[in-house]
Formats: sequence, C-alpha cells, structure tokens
Amino acid sequence: MTDCLFCKIRDGEIPADIVFESDDVLAFNDVNPQAPIHIIIIPKKHIPTINDVEDGDESVMGKLFSAAKIIAGQKAVSDDGYRLVVNCNEKAGQTVFHIHMHLLAGRAMIWPPG
Ligand code: 5GP
Ligand code: ZN
Repeated sequence: MTDCLFCKIRDGEIPADIVFESDDVLAFNDVNPQAPIHIIIIPKKHIPTINDVEDGDESVMGKLFSAAKIIAGQKAVSDDGYRLVVNCNEKAGQTVFHIHMHLLAGRAMIWPPG
C-alpha cells in the first residue's frame, strides 16, 4: 500500500521513533501524543480496519497485545496501568486506515472515553 502512512513508516520511507520491532509488529511514538506515553503498535501486514481482519490474522492480532505488554514493561507502566485503544472507522475516530493499537500511559484516564 504505497499511499498508506503506516506502511511508509514500516518501510522506513517516513521517519518515526521506533520503540519495538519484531517480525510481525512495529511500534513507534505517536507524533501528536495524548498522554505522556503514547505509542502506536501496528501489524506489519497492511490491514485497513478491524472489519478487514481475516482468518489467519489471529496470530498477528494477538501479537499486538504481546507487544503492548512488552512495551508497558519497558516503559515501567505495567503496574500503574495503561490504556489500549483501537479505533474502527470514522465515527470511532480512525484517521489512519492501517490497523493500529494506541498504548496510552503516564496519566490518569477517564471513563467513558469521549
Ligand atoms: P487514529 O485516529 O487513526 O486511531 O490514530 C492515528 C494516530 O496516528 C494519531 O494518534 C496520530 O497522531 C498518529 N499519526 C498521524 N500521523 C503520524 C505520523 O506521521 N507519525 C506518527 N508517529 N504518528 C502519526
Ligand atoms: Zn498500511
């Protein structure tokens, strides 16, 4: 997907502060952080939205959570707590159409989210 922002970050065509990388997953600091720690975790595979997850994607989707756990440990927020968010389509606030998990931490979170 040559016009996908997160594919371009994956491919090194757009710079990003990478905080975690494995064979299937990449994570980097959000350019417009909404918390002291705000990290975007993506599958390297281009999947536009949660609605597009297919049979066979279960492993990589699970690895997003595994990456979140590892990153939370690295950032020392595992015990204090952190929030994971996946927006799907416009009404939920999705603006980049390559599945991503937000990891937010470093401040108290309110519920329900806006
Ligand atoms: P969404 O609104 O789709 O759930 O989240 C997209 C996120 O990507 C936003 O939090 C936004 O700040 C972030 N973002 C947009 N463009 C860039 C960029 O060029 N680099 C990085 N690191 N994050 C970006
Ligand atoms: Zn993409």
